[in-house]
Parts: sequence; structure tokens; C-alpha cells
Amino acid sequence: MANFSDIIGHEDIVKHFKSSMELGRVSHAYILNGEKGTGKRTLAKVVSAMLQCESGLPDPCGKCRSCLQVESGNQPDIIWVQHEKPNVISVDEIRTQILKDIDLKPYSSKYKIYIIPDAQMMNQQAQNALLKTLEEPPAYAVLMLLTNNMDSFLPTVLSRCVVLNFKPVQPLDMMEYLTGQMGLDSAKARFCTDFAQGNLGKAVRLAISPDYNEIREDSVRLLRRIHTMEIEDIIEAVKNIGKYKLDLTDYIDIMTMWFRDILMVKISNSPNKIIFKDEFSVLKRQGSKTSYEGIENILQAMDKLKVRLEANVNFDIAMELMLLTLKDNMS
Ligand SMILES: [Zn+2]
Repeated sequence: MANFSDIIGHEDIVKHFKSSMELGRVSHAYILNGEKGTGKRTLAKVVSAMLQCESGLPDPCGKCRSCLQVESGNQPDIIWVQHEKPNVISVDEIRTQILKDIDLKPYSSKYKIYIIPDAQMMNQQAQNALLKTLEEPPAYAVLMLLTNNMDSFLPTVLSRCVVLNFKPVQPLDMMEYLTGQMGLDSAKARFCTDFAQGNLGKAVRLAISPDYNEIREDSVRLLRRIHTMEIEDIIEAVKNIGKYKLDLTDYIDIMTMWFRDILMVKISNSPNKIIFKDEFSVLKRQGSKTSYEGIENILQAMDKLKVRLEANVNFDIAMELMLLTLKDNMS
């Protein structure tokens, strides 16, 4: 079963939980804050299994009654809060799954643990309903609110929780995981590491994509001649990515890597530190035609494009604006 060694990075958070367990000072409410793919669920799984494990070991033992229940997905004292609508956790859901249940003592374990994934989806009523429990929780209760957006919480909720922030995973740790546990070759591991920018879930998503090679090749084909293409062609090419089940923003991330490579080639004039090593001569040629300021402008335009796409703006228009910046800055 999963244990602390399965958690990549986040040493400070693991340390926090381990020492509070050792000292018997586990808090009643935690907020685990970090973007999608940073490992919040994995951590909540391991910590909740650990809290309930009967072995007293520093890791869930995998053999006691509680661990076996966790394995089979029915540890009655670890409750994962579910919600029906895709974007909201309602006050009724908080009432039926937490408030009406929490005063009943644990069935068989030391704690009663409630995990709320996507807790940012709790509307104001739901958060208000939870407040009283956060103020006066039963001694055995532990709540874990997993979120990618702390701003959605009421200040009164925030002030009653221990907030643990998931920082980006260091590139070296990620490389080690991808080449070690996942068995990737180092070129692919580097590509996925650079693509993910500290988000392990994102790296793994690309690494296990059956379309990895095509995605990379398609991107390179486009990027090689992007500055000479017409806007319609580029929009068409980028839309094409839809067939690979990646997010459109993922494609922008790959384009960003390309331009970071151009920048690196301009600075170092060497293929050593770049991701698209096979494309060194192309990168060099494009770099010679683009100023530092121009690359900076392009990278900024790509960042903006990502923000726009996440806000669901019209794809064609957002893309067009980015490409105009690109063309303006490359000759
Ligand atoms: Zn155990």
C-alpha cells in the first residue's frame, strides 16, 4: 500500500505530519493547498492511513485491520466527501456526510477522518455550516480540506485550519522519480520534467500518454516554421492537439519550452542545456533572428495566452493575439 516513500517532494509537509503524530499533537483541521496534480490526494491517503494504522510504525503497515480496510476502500472511519454537481459542494452534502455523522464515535479506529477533495467548491453556505464543527470538533475528528484555490475560503474557515502549501517538486527529485520508479529514459524524463514545471502529476500525465512521441513531433514540426506560417494554419495545427487528449494549455507549455530553449542557445551557444537537443541548429537560426527582448515578449504572450484559455475566452482570438506578438518579434 502507499506509504510516505511514495510521496515525491513535499518533505516539509511529510515532516510536519510525522512529528505531530509522534508528539500526539495532530490538529483537527488542515488545508492542503496546491495546484491540480501536486499530490494532495496521495498525501491525504497516506496520512489518513497512517493516523489509523494500529502498528505504531512511522508508515502505514499494510497488514493491520485498518490498513486492510484502507486497501479495500472501506475504512469506515476515513470518509471521502462526495459531491453530485460538478462544480459545487452544497450545504446538504456537508450536512449529510459530515455534520450528521461526526458526533458518532469512530467505529473501530482512533480517529474519524473527513477528507474533502476540491474543497474550494464548497459554497458559502456549505462553509458556514462547517464552521461550528471547525470551532468545536470532537476530540477524535480530523478534517482535511484539499484545494487548489485558497481564496475561495471564508476568513473564518481559514483561521481555524492549519494551512499546508504544496510547493513545486524540485526538478532533480522529479527526474529521479521518472527515470527510477517509472523507468523513463533520461531524454524523455527531462522533457516531461521541464514541461511540468514542478507539477509531478502533469509530468506523469505526459509520460504515460500513448501519444507522447506524436505530441512531441507535431510540436516540433509546428515550431520549426511557426514564424513563417499564416495564423489560420497555426490555429488549425494547434487545434489538432485536441486528438491527443492534452489540454490546450499543455500545448502552450511545450511551445514555451521551445522558446526557453532558444533563449538558452542564445546565451550559451551550446546544445548542452536545451530540451530539444535534436533541433539545435533550428533553435540557433531562430535565435539569431530574435532579440532577447523579443523572446521575453513571446514568453510573456504565451503566459497571457494560458491565463486567457483558463478563463475560457475564445480560443481563436486569444491564439491570434499571441501569434501576432510572435510574428512581430521574429523575423
Ligand atoms: Zn496498519
